Amino acid sequence: MKEDTIAQNLRRIRNEAGVSLSKAAEMTGVSKAMLGQIERQESSPTIATLWKISQGFHLPLSALLLERSCPLGGETVRFPGSIEVRIVFPFDANLGEETFEITLKPDQVHQSEAHEAGLIEDVIVVSGSMEVDVDGTRHALEAGAGFRFAADQPHVYRGGSQGAVFLNIHHYVRAGI
Ligand code: MN
Repeated sequence: MKEDTIAQNLRRIRNEAGVSLSKAAEMTGVSKAMLGQIERQESSPTIATLWKISQGFHLPLSALLLERSCPLGGETVRFPGSIEVRIVFPFDANLGEETFEITLKPDQVHQSEAHEAGLIEDVIVVSGSMEVDVDGTRHALEAGAGFRFAADQPHVYRGGSQGAVFLNIHHYVRAGI
């Protein structure tokens, strides 16, 4: 977990937006105390918290995860007790897309809250097998399978008995980012 990268990114994003911690808390739904702790590297945010922050600032998730000195991506962010996320392609403003490689441990369940309106996700299984629950339906995916869904609703990723590695592409449809 690169708290320093996330801390620096959050501080920079907040400064560039010219907002106080209180205002940032209002914008993101993450408490002022938690935002301060993340900026001071006193707390390791969950991926759910990072999604809230990125949405509140109308930024892609990779704006928080990406190390500025390594703009091509490649680094892995480990969320303790949760998923492992590697940036394959950081957010591209022209394409409106970012691509992550996510590792699920055997039988690991990861619940994702609804992302912003219009966000489409692709899941492409590189190895292992997994399931995606969305729309009240469980979709079983083997290595090589692709699945595309509207991610502005809660969804669940579940690793198979051998776990899974998958590419996760976020298509942002919002204008202006
Ligand atoms: Mn998601």
